[in-house]
Order: sequence, then structure tokens, then C-alpha cells
Amino acid sequence: MDRILVTEKIADEGLAVLRQAGAVDVRLDLDKSALIATLGDYDALVVRSATKVTTEVIAAGSRLRVIGRAGTGVDNIDVDAATARGIIVVNAPASNSVAVAELTIGLLIALARSLPQAHASLQSGKWERSKFVGWEVRGKTLGLIGLGRIGSEVAVRARAMEMAVLAYDPVVSLDRAEQIGVELVALDELLARSDVISLHVPLLEATRNLLDSDNLAKMKRGAYLINASRGGTVDESALLAALDSGQLAGAALDVFSSEPLPSDSPLLRHPKLITVPHIGASTAEAQISAGSEVAEGVAAALSGATPRYAVNAPFVAPEAWGVLQPYLTLGRQMGRLISQLMSDPVRSYDLEFRGELAQVDTQPVKLAVLEGLLAANSPVRVTPVNAPLIARERGVRLTERTHPDAESYAGLLVVRVQTAEHEHLFSGTVLRGEPHIVQADGYFVDFIPQGPLLFTYHRDRPGMIGMVGTLLGGADVNISGMYVGRLAPRAQSLMVLTLDEPASPAVLARIETEEDIERAIGVVL
Ligand code: NAD
Repeated sequence: MDRILVTEKIADEGLAVLRQAGAVDVRLDLDKSALIATLGDYDALVVRSATKVTTEVIAAGSRLRVIGRAGTGVDNIDVDAATARGIIVVNAPASNSVAVAELTIGLLIALARSLPQAHASLQSGKWERSKFVGWEVRGKTLGLIGLGRIGSEVAVRARAMEMAVLAYDPVVSLDRAEQIGVELVALDELLARSDVISLHVPLLEATRNLLDSDNLAKMKRGAYLINASRGGTVDESALLAALDSGQLAGAALDVFSSEPLPSDSPLLRHPKLITVPHIGASTAEAQISAGSEVAEGVAAALSGATPRYAVNAPFVAPEAWGVLQPYLTLGRQMGRLISQLMSDPVRSYDLEFRGELAQVDTQPVKLAVLEGLLAANSPVRVTPVNAPLIARERGVRLTERTHPDAESYAGLLVVRVQTAEHEHLFSGTVLRGEPHIVQADGYFVDFIPQGPLLFTYHRDRPGMIGMVGTLLGGADVNISGMYVGRLAPRAQSLMVLTLDEPASPAVLARIETEEDIERAIGVVL
């Protein structure tokens, strides 16, 4: 059973998911040296932000396959060191999107109706109804800079309040924006047309001081600004100047360039500025979903599946996830199957993504195939994370192409293997959510690639199937399914048997002594 070490408090819901995946030890008392001393016994490590998972710590985790971060930022984890060792790093980036989006909407309404100012006025004994005449958000234009997870959640909520929503995001597609009722525009157009601008970008070199005095001057006079993304994306002195000059009518900030915000900061005293202490993600639900989301990622990684949010593996867009997930299992199993069937040296692999697979980003499936191909013969553990590195080291060549047609299937993953002498063809598809191999070494078959299998390459003749069944039965190996593909009656054939237990080398050798059997190969998936 896999062992999972949890070094910081995560929600009970998350722990429950982890307990389904392995034996969980919650140790909140470990300092660095105690962590290093104990980590060698564990397959998974789950942290929040306080545990520093350095190169040294990672090196001590000789069995470690996955590191989970219950939250978004992974600044406390040396991701490169994890990648080099094939350790998957998973996080929980979607867990707080709704919390931050709801806070953004709260700040929007607070700006529109001067809620903090009205509250303070009433608390000071005044009853100033006419001073607090606000404005309605309905019909106003909201400009979102960044239309990722949080920006999209804000857009959906703003649309429900009958706002027009513009967004500037160089990565998001027009289709995605249209889907959620957002008009994608250039930054300058967004600045000029928006009544309220809200930032939802990461802090990068390109986004540092994105709203500086120049860009603030391009905003509509009397517009509003909200920042619940990261401090540093807004030039705070320029913002104060814009509020003083009336260029901006108000602003609301959850994040600051220096946190905690010093108590003498001028940002705390400006009457048009609403400030809250970085509470965007601070909801009970977000804490629970951070725990559950990271636990699901850790459980997936331990079971050999591809986790949804892996920091050091390719990102799968939410809309592609449903299509891709079963193909990831298919790709890995096809890779493992092929690597066990090939006896000649391989020159190259050619992948073809057909039908529905041609519509999505297939990089994760390619990595899954590579992982499967390399896993059996690698001294180090192969995961989608280090598969490209290992492939490069071993000179494994893999080409890829897409094709819109998938015969009668929704999608097909085709792997052509070129060896010194031959070309071998394998195809797989997904039926009712399960991976199926529908062509093996050129023969049409249909089986689910899992568990122990027996492949016999033979000449078709009466009694062949019975003979193999009898030999397996004599060795107490139970057959759970049988699939035969042949080129013509009494011609070359392939039989695939799915087994309850693997056939021993002695049984395989015995089967191969039979006339007309060319090869009998045991495969374990
Ligand atoms: P995300 O990665 O899903 O989305 C970020 C989007 O920004 C992406 O679509 C990206 O294409 C876009 N982007 C990148 N550079 C850009 C640029 N120069 N101009 C315009 N768009 C650009 O991330 P998310 O989960 O939506 O988070 C957004 C931000 O919110 C992050 O900075 C995150 O750290 C912050 N955040 C804040 C809190 C809080 O407590 N206030 C909590 C969680 C996240």
C-alpha cells in the first residue's frame, strides 16, 4: 500500500480522499531534518505553503512519486528537482476561483454603493442618505484583464448582473470568450471602453505595473479599478495620483505590492480606496476544495493516472479534459503493450491522432504513450514528467500527425512502430469511456488493455485455441477473454487472451514448442 505523508493541515474531505489512496500519516511537527529523515518511507508528500520542499528534501524522498500542494502557488517546492526525478507536482489551482470571483463582485458592489464608507458614516453616528447615492452595475461595462479561471468566473457573474463584459487576454480563444458572453478586445480598447476594470492576471514581467500612470490615463475618466490578482500589477503611487486627480472615481484592492500592508501606508487612508487584507481565497469552501482537489491529484498520480492539475506536466484545458482523460490511459497502456511485444530494435514511432483526438491538444496523450513505451526498460521511474528527458537521452524518435477521420470510431490513436525490418501497426479507441485496442500488429482485434495478457502469433488451424487453453489450464492460469484476428482462414493469425494470472515463462516456452505457433508472448499491463 502506498504511504502518504501530510505535513500541514488540510481539510478532512481531502484526508478522506487520501485515505482511499493509501496509508496516511499526518505529521504537523516535522522540522527540516525530521522531514528529511522520514521522507524516504513515503510515496507521496502533501504540503501547503509552510513546508519547504527543497532539492535536499526531494533527494531524501527516494520512493516519492508525487508532491501535492493544497493551494495554487508552488514557490515552496523545487519543481525542477522534482521533474528531474520524475516526481509529479500537483496543486489545486481551481479551488479558489469562485471565492476570488465572488470577492471581486463584492468589491464591485462595494464601490458602486460606497458600502464601507456608508457603514463607517453610520457607525460614527451620522445618517447621510443623500451622500451615498450610488450607481447600478446593470448596463455598465466591465473590463477584465486576464480571462483565465478567475476572470471567467467573474465574467459569468457579471453577465448575470446584466453587465457588458470585455476582456483582454492574449491566450484565450475567441470561441472560449464567446461561450461565456465576453467580447475579446485589445488592451487599449478595454481601457478606453470600461466603466470598471478588474485584474485577473499572474504577476509576470509582462504584467508588472501593467496599470501604470500611462495606462491609468487611458481609462475612461471617472472609471473604477479592482485588483484581487497579485500586488505589483498596479503601480500603487500612480493609482493614488489617479484617485486624487479624479481620473479614477474609486478603486478596491485585495492585494498589495508589499504584504502585510504597512500600517502607515497611504493606501489605507484614501477615501476613494477600499482595501481588504488579501482575503480573496479565504472561504471555508475554498479551503475544503483545495484539500479535496490536491488529494484527488495525489490519488490519481499514485494510481498511475494523469492528474488533472500537474504543475510539471502539460495543462489540460477544462473543455478538453472529458475527451482526453480515457485516451491518456489508452496511450499509456498502448505504449506499455508495444514495448513488451517488440523484439526487434525500434527505429521510430509515429503517432496519429484521429477524429475527436485531432480536435484537442494531444501533447498529454503523446507523453502518456512515451511514458508507457519507456517504463518497462528504464532504471529510473518514468512519468509524463520526465518521459521527454529520458526519450531524448535514449534517442527515441517520435513523430506525430493528426487526421480528421477516425473510420467508424469517435477517435483513434494509431501508433506505427518502425523496426529495422518491419512496420508494426497498433490502433486504440475509447468505447463507453474505456480504452480498447482495435488493431494489434496489423490484426483487427478488440480487447481492453489491462492485466496479464497472452499473445500468440500462429497459423490458424482447427484445435489451436483449444490447445493453448489446455496448456494454460494445466498450469492453473485462468482465461477471462479471447480475441482472434487473422488475415485469412488458416492463414497467419494473432490470438490475444486476457488472463487472471500471468503465464509463466515455462508455459510460454511450452506453447511455443507446438507446431504452427511462431511466438507466444506474455504481457503484463
Ligand atoms: P489563470 O492562470 O487561470 O488565468 C490567468 C490568465 O491571465 C490567463 O488566461 C493568462 O492568459 C492571462 N494573462 C497572462 N498574462 C497576461 C497579460 N499580460 N495580459 C492579459 N492577460 C494575461 O489564473 P487564475 O486562477 O485565474 O488566477 C489569476 C490571478 O489571481 C493570479 O495572479 C493568482 O495569483 C491570483 N489569485 C489571487 C487570489 C487572492 O486571494 N486574491 C487567490 C487566488 C489567485
